Amino acid sequence: MTEHTPEPDDAAARRAMVPVICYPNETLPAPDLALYARAREGAAKIDEVIVPPREAACFRVAAGQFFRITSIDGPQVGDLNLWNANDLGERFYSGKTRALHGTHLTTGERMWSSFPHLRPMATITGDTLGWYGMDEFGGSVHDVIGTRCDPYTGNLLSGAQYHHCCHSNLTRALADEAGISLQEAEGHVHDVLNVFMCTGFTRDTGQYFMKASPVRPGDYLEFFAEIDLLGALSACPGGDCSAEHTSDAAACFPLRVEVFAPQEAALAGWESPPVNGYDGSHGR
Ligand SMILES: [Zn+2]
Repeated sequence: MTEHTPEPDDAAARRAMVPVICYPNETLPAPDLALYARAREGAAKIDEVIVPPREAACFRVAAGQFFRITSIDGPQVGDLNLWNANDLGERFYSGKTRALHGTHLTTGERMWSSFPHLRPMATITGDTLGWYGMDEFGGSVHDVIGTRCDPYTGNLLSGAQYHHCCHSNLTRALADEAGISLQEAEGHVHDVLNVFMCTGFTRDTGQYFMKASPVRPGDYLEFFAEIDLLGALSACPGGDCSAEHTSDAAACFPLRVEVFAPQEAALAGWESPPVNGYDGSHGR
C-alpha cells in the first residue's frame, strides 16, 4: 500500500476545479467531408490486400484515394501504421492525434503526422461502428491510447519469446515492402491506430483495458488519403481482444484492405495539405 500525504483542508475544492480542454479543436483546418463523399461515389476499386491472421501486410494509397479496412470471417482488431510513401521519416503521431481528437477516432477525425510535418495524413470518412459511442465502462472503439502489442513487454511480464505481436508483424511487413533490414524497419514502426479495438481506462485505477470488440464481419473503417501513403496493417494475435494477446490462444481472422480511386476531376479544388507552417527556427 502506498503511503499518501494527508489530504489538505481544501482537498474537495481543489478536486472540484472544472477541466479545461487542452486543445480546443474548432480552429483545426476542417476536412471537406461533402467533397470527399461525392468523390467516393464514383470511385473505382484498384487494389485489395488480405492481411492473414497474426501477420501484417503493406499497402499503398496515393493522395486523393480512399482505403477501407474491413472485418471478414470473424471479429478481429487491426493495428495500423502509416508513413508518407515518399519519406518514412514522416509517420503517424498517435499521441498528438489523441491530444487533438481524444482517445478514440471516428468519422471526420484525422490521423496526424510526426514533427516537423504535423499535417493530416488520412481523414476517416466512414465508420460502421460509429454508433458504439462510449460504453458504461468508458470503453470505445478505434483508439489512439494503446501502443501496439510487442514482444518486449510480453517478455517483461512473462518471460515469453513470442514472434507474432503486432510490433513484429509490422516490422516484417515493412522490411519486405521497403527492401530494408528487420533492424532498420523496426525503427520505423510506431504507435498505432487500433482499428476495431474496444479499449479505455478503468475509472478506479486508470488502467488501460480492452474488451471484446463489437466488430462483426462486414464492418469497416474507411479513410481518405491526404498524402501519398504507405500503410501496414497487422491482424492482432489478440483476435477480438476479449481475453489475451501476445500468444496464439485467441481465435484470429484476416482483415481486408481495399483501395479506391476517384474519377478524374472529382476532387477539383482539393489540394494535398502542406507540411506544418512553423518556421523550425526554435527561436534561434
Ligand atoms: Zn496486437
